[in-house]
Formats: sequence, C-alpha cells, structure tokens
Amino acid sequence: MSLKKYKMYINGEWVESESGEYFPSYNPATGEAWCEVAKGTEEDVNRAVQAAHEAFQNSEWAEMTYTERGKLVHKLGELISQNIEKLAEFETRDNGKLLREMRGQLTYLPEFFYYYAGLADKIHGQTMPIDKKDIFAFTTREPLGVVAAITPWNSPLYLTTIKLAPALVAGNTIVIKPSEMTSASLLELMKYVEEAGFPKGVVNVVTGFGMPVGNTLTAHPLVRRVAFTGGSESARHVVRNTAENFAQVSLELGGKSPNIVFEDADPESAAMGIIAGIFGASGQSCVAGSRALLHVDIYDQVLEKLVERVEQIKIGDPLLDDTEMGPLATEAQLERVKEYVGIGQAEGGKIVIGGKTPENTDAGWYFEPTIIELIDHDARIAQEEIFGPVLSIIPFKDEEEAIALANGTEYALATGIWTRDVARAHRVAKAVHAGIIWVNTYRSISPLMPIGGSRLSGHGRESGFDAIYEYTQSKAVWINT
Ligand code: NAD
Repeated sequence: MSLKKYKMYINGEWVESESGEYFPSYNPATGEAWCEVAKGTEEDVNRAVQAAHEAFQNSEWAEMTYTERGKLVHKLGELISQNIEKLAEFETRDNGKLLREMRGQLTYLPEFFYYYAGLADKIHGQTMPIDKKDIFAFTTREPLGVVAAITPWNSPLYLTTIKLAPALVAGNTIVIKPSEMTSASLLELMKYVEEAGFPKGVVNVVTGFGMPVGNTLTAHPLVRRVAFTGGSESARHVVRNTAENFAQVSLELGGKSPNIVFEDADPESAAMGIIAGIFGASGQSCVAGSRALLHVDIYDQVLEKLVERVEQIKIGDPLLDDTEMGPLATEAQLERVKEYVGIGQAEGGKIVIGGKTPENTDAGWYFEPTIIELIDHDARIAQEEIFGPVLSIIPFKDEEEAIALANGTEYALATGIWTRDVARAHRVAKAVHAGIIWVNTYRSISPLMPIGGSRLSGHGRESGFDAIYEYTQSKAVWINT
C-alpha cells in the first residue's frame, strides 16, 4: 500500500520539493513508516523566504489593520478547535505521545490564538515627555519582517503556535520548518491557514532536515528573526548563522529541571507532581522534572509513593485511552536512554525501579519509567539532559543545600518547589536559576505566562505578552514643532 504523501506549503500553494524527493515519517508505536514528506532543498527555502518577504512588503497583509490581522488569527484558533481530534491523532502517529495528552494540549491551543488575537490592537508605543519644549516625541512598535520558526518533534503544534500567533498579530510573515520526524500536523494546519483567509506568502512551511533546510533558513539574509526550539547542538549552528546577518534569535533549549521537596510538603501531591513532570510524554519534554531533590526527613515517604505509583503505570499503544505512558519518539532516543541508565549505574546510581525495555511490548521504542537513587550530584545522569523517562533522586539536608543543588547544572529552565511555607516558597523561587517556577504544581501552562530559560536552556521568551516584544521593534520619532 502506498503511503500518504505530504507536499510543502509555499506562497499559498501546495508544492513538491524542487528535488521531487520525499522521505518517510515513522510511527514510534510500531517502528513503521506511516506517511511521506517532501524533502526540502536550499532552493525551496529561498522560494519560501522570498514569498514571505514579498508578502511582508507588498501584499494586502502589509496594508491590513491590526484588528483585521487579529480576526484572522482568531479564525485560525476557531478552525483548530473544530479539528482537535484529527490533529491530535496526526501528532500521536508521528511522535508516539499519548493521544489523550495531545488532545489535551490541542484543546487548549485555540486559547493562545484568542489571547494573541486580543492583543492585536494593544501593540502600541508611547508619547514621551521630553525635556525640550519644541519637541513632540513618541514611539511606535513595528513588525520585524520575515520570521523563521524551527521546531522539534515533541509538541509540534504547541511549539509552533507560541511562535506563529504572536509573530502574525505583530504583522510579520513566517517560514516554518518543523522537525523532520513530525511534519504532518503542521501541514494539516496549513489547510486551516488557507481556510482562515491569510494572504498568500504570509505563512509558509518548508519540510526536511536540519541540513540543508534549517541551515539555509537560519542563514538567509532576508530573515530578521529566528525562533528556535530544539537541542543545544543545533542551536549553536543557528546562532552562528544568525550572527552572519545580525538577525535576532530566541533559543528554547533543554533542561535538567529539579523538583525540590521540603520536609513540610504534602508527600502525596509532591510525588504525583514529580511523576507527571518526568514520566509525562515519556520524559521527552523540555521542562521534564528529571531531578527530584528530596529533604532527608521526607525522602523515604516520597520515594515509597513514587514507587507505588510507578509500578501501576500502564505502558502501551499511545492511541488507547487507558495507556499512561507511550514509546520514545525514535530508536536512537531509546538507545540514548539505555546508554544513560548504564552510565548512571557505572557512576554508583542505584536503580529503584525500571531500567529496561518493558516485556509486554514486542514492537515500538518503549522504555520503563525508571527511578535512580544518586549520592553524587555531579554524576552525568544528574547533569545532562536525557530526554527520556529517567528520574534521578538526590537527598538534601537544608534550604541552602537544596538551592545549591538546584542551581548546580548548566541548565536553567524550570523548577518545582514543594512546601507549605509561603515565605520559603518566595525565598527559594527568587534564589533558583530558572525561567519558570512552579510551587506545589508542575508543568502548568497558560497563554498569559511567558516560558523560556537562561544559560544552556537558551534565551528569549515565548508565550505571554513578552512574546509581542520579541516580534516587534520600537521606532523613536522626534518632531520639532
Ligand atoms: P534538534 O535540535 O535535533 O532539532 C530541532 C529542530 O532543529 C528540528 O527541526 C531540526 O531539523 C532542526 N535543526 C537541526 N539541525 C539544524 C541546523 N544546523 N540548523 C537549523 N536547524 C536545525 O532537537 P530535537 O531532538 O528535535 O528536540 C529535542 C530538544 O528540544 C531537547 O533538547 C528539548 O529539551 C528541546 N526542547 C525545548 C523546548 C523549550 O521550550 N525550551 C521545548 C521542546 C523541546
């Protein structure tokens, strides 16, 4: 049986790659190809950027008012809300995450479009009371031009949305390169972009690999901003490329986020928060809470609850409603997780539960939810991003040590704090290096709240009003009256 073939979306048209070639996209639950995607080339990127550039300068898009743009973005959100089930299934087929989880994420996605649509007419400058009597001075906020968005495979449409919606309401045009592993849902979304009535060239998708598609796109002299989500190695290439043209860049990268559980925390909710943080999406989330720092007085209690729950986690087909944990997205990722578990043991880590591929799955790239007790926080598995269902637990004696451990990696993305002491929650939230702090909760998201990190976790902010600043620049106007 021949597989479904996906073309690219450039300048309002469905087009083949200039090479005419396609590449397979695999279903992680079976290890088999389920569709084929056009294999983009340098020439395809050039076509897409040129189309976005012309749309920015000459089309009706450039003439539109902010409210008209807001209406289009709102319409796109409505179309998504009518097609959640279909889009969620495409994502699950491509990345192996639970259908339940993708459905939940996509159900909330329209809210991001509505939020940014509502901001469309609130992007304004200021008049400035300059200390010169003949001068009238004011600022305006203007779009940047062509934005390039590069996304990973773990949450394809969510990670696209937090770039696409603010970039569009601010008046930019965009070229999106999805992960080569998960292109289908974004290409499906382009049907709704068409239906919503965006002028041609405003939104473009070029599918294919980091080399040459991502590389050509981020080095293109007409691209004014790159919004990149992915791994540190690819990010280094992106930064070198953007440096050539002084294009702006935001980097949403990985993490080694801790959940700090103090002795006064509720052990049950802390354990459930830790489990959702690390075993949700089989640990393949940038904010995965891959380190649990447990106060010595509550250590045994929390560990017992963690093990109790992990023993019950149902691993299997991500399309089934009662499955709690699906496979990893690629075979290479599975091998990487196995390798890290071996490294952890060699470093003196003790596997409390898990540590191998499950017995009841004969195909697909599955790995058991795994908990490893560590004494040495410098161990590689406590320092490096694994991007799999592996939790390292480490004890601490007091607040000072907890903060030092939390800050003791090169990453700074998210931190969970579990305590009933409000003053301590504030102190620790201030002291830890992370762009996102969750107190007595973990992995909450909202269109109103910014996300992003620092150090090896990248820089720049997505989501929330902050994103509007990322996709606009101010212009200072001085008038001598
Ligand atoms: P990746 O870096 O391999 O790929 C990400 C994207 O970059 C893909 O589209 C890929 O094709 C592209 N790419 C690869 N090489 C490139 C190059 N030289 N130039 C331009 N683009 C290039 O990452 P991945 O394996 O898809 O995703 C996992 C990583 O993403 C993890 O580190 C994870 O923590 C991170 N992530 C971060 C966030 C966040 O918001 N902070 C969210 C999700 C994932």
